[in-house]
Amino acid sequence: MDAPAIIVGRQCRYCRKWYPKGDFVLFGPGLERCPKCQERHLIALDALAGNPPKECAFCHITFEKLSDKHPGERVPMVVHMIDGTYMLACQVCDIKITELTRHLFKGTMFGKARGIA
Ligand SMILES: [Zn+2]
Ligand SMILES: [Zn+2]
Repeated sequence: MDAPAIIVGRQCRYCRKWYPKGDFVLFGPGLERCPKCQERHLIALDALAGNPPKECAFCHITFEKLSDKHPGERVPMVVHMIDGTYMLACQVCDIKITELTRHLFKGTMFGKARGIA
């Protein structure tokens, strides 16, 4: 019989998944995120620099599919900061996330534009 596996790792506080301790990326004083969350964050920053992302970080619809829905137009995507990580959302996910986090936008210009404030 094999010995039980010992989990040597840490749970990412953002996505709740477990990764080896050494894989975590420090991004601020006492702030760490797993390599997957770090990757999503860098993709969003890259998109802010003008490079199209591969997909929506939430529903994973590809950028090509989103582009097909908006022929000849700019593809609307919205950056959300979830627990310190920038993530790009398609319009459908943006509406859901904004609804779930509406308390954050009360009294802001964004909230006003969305009819929250
Ligand atoms: Zn994570
Ligand atoms: Zn989406």
